[in-house]
Formats: sequence, structure tokens, C-alpha cells
Amino acid sequence: MSVSSNLRDVRDRIRVASDAAHRDPDQITLIAVSKTQPIELIKEAYDAGQRHFGESRLQEAQSKIESMPEDVVWHFIGTLQSNKAKKIASLFSVIHTFCKEDHIREADKANRQVEALIEVNIAREPQKAGISPEELDEYHRKVIQSSYVKFRGLMTIGPAMVEAEQERAYFGELRRLGGLVGADWLSMGMSGDFEVAIQEGSTHVRVGTAIFGSRQ
Ligand SMILES: *Cc1c(COP(=O)(O)O)cnc(C)c1O
Repeated sequence: MSVSSNLRDVRDRIRVASDAAHRDPDQITLIAVSKTQPIELIKEAYDAGQRHFGESRLQEAQSKIESMPEDVVWHFIGTLQSNKAKKIASLFSVIHTFCKEDHIREADKANRQVEALIEVNIAREPQKAGISPEELDEYHRKVIQSSYVKFRGLMTIGPAMVEAEQERAYFGELRRLGGLVGADWLSMGMSGDFEVAIQEGSTHVRVGTAIFGSRQ
């Protein structure tokens, strides 16, 4: 299967899931997660009309960002390290993984507006980044005090489950928390579970393998 036909297939699935949830498919942004994928495949996706791309490592993303057209919207979806947050804020339009005070302070130093999502560790998995639901209110207050970091919403990575249906409760919980802090965006859903995430209110789905195939 080619990237362009995979993209068509994913977009069709987004449309079907949106229709079933009585949602407008245009309200859902498809982020093509291109981490580890070669530039040729990213260009193929671009030529098929894809404009939002997700990367999780600064070093890898840098050369890709330089070699792609200016109208690409780059989303940083990897774990944020404080010492790299300034550089990441200078290169990416959206950062999905704010979860520490240092992240805000360092990203601010880029002197460039960046759209921000707060990562919430809904399932409280010890190996995962993200704040706990109890910390959200306080952290959100800090984010909205920043001059350059513009709060847009919440992000979560659903716990790995055998059945996508089991993710539903976690996605529903992110939506509930989003309501408490006035989130416009909910970044949730990956290749294995984006349809369930759309039913639960996702506005940004992050899809890698269903578009590009397995990662190197
Ligand atoms: C890699 C990654 C994805 C994409 O995962 P797939 O299962 O390949 O669709 C989405 N979100 C995050 C945070 C990732 O690290």
C-alpha cells in the first residue's frame, strides 16, 4: 500500500467515525506522525495534501523541517526535555506535551508564539510523562500566565490495550478535564484507537503506522 492510499483510507475512516458521532469531520485535524520515517515518505504525504505532521525528537525533526515547504504545520508530540524546550518552541507550531514548570519558562525564551497542549497521564502509568488529573488546575494556571505559550487544550496517550474500546473511558475522562479548563482542543487517538477517540470528542488524532507503515 502507498502512503497516498493509506492517507485516503485514514481520512475515510475519520469521516465515517465523525458521521457516526454526529460530528463535522472538518473539526478533526489529522496529524501524520512521521517520526523515524524517511523524508521521501513525508513528501509523498505532502503531495497527497497532508499538511500537519508530528515528530517526537528534536534532532531528527530539524532536518525534516528544513527540507519541507513552509506551509507544513509541525506538531511536537515527544517527551519534552526542559533543555530543548526553547529550540522546540522556535521550530514547531504546536507542542502537545507540556507538563512541567520548566517547559513553560524555557519555551517562553524562544520569543515566538507556540500553541500548547498539556499532557495528562490519565491512566497514571508510572513510565509515562504527563501531569496527573489533580495537578491540572494548578498547572493550567501557570500555562495561561505565559506570554508566548498559548494554551489550546489537553493531550493524552491512551494506555496500551488489546481492544480500542477499552480506551473509551480514558478518552472520556480527558474530555471531562478539558471542560474544566476550557480546552478547545483534545489531542487523543492513534492508529489503533482514533475512531473511539473521535467518538469521545478528539479534535486532533495522531496517526503514524496506519499512514506510513511500521517504523524503522
Ligand atoms: C508514535 C506516536 C503516535 C503514533 O502512533 P501510531 O500507533 O503509529 O499511530 C501518536 N502519538 C504519540 C505521542 C506517539 O509517540
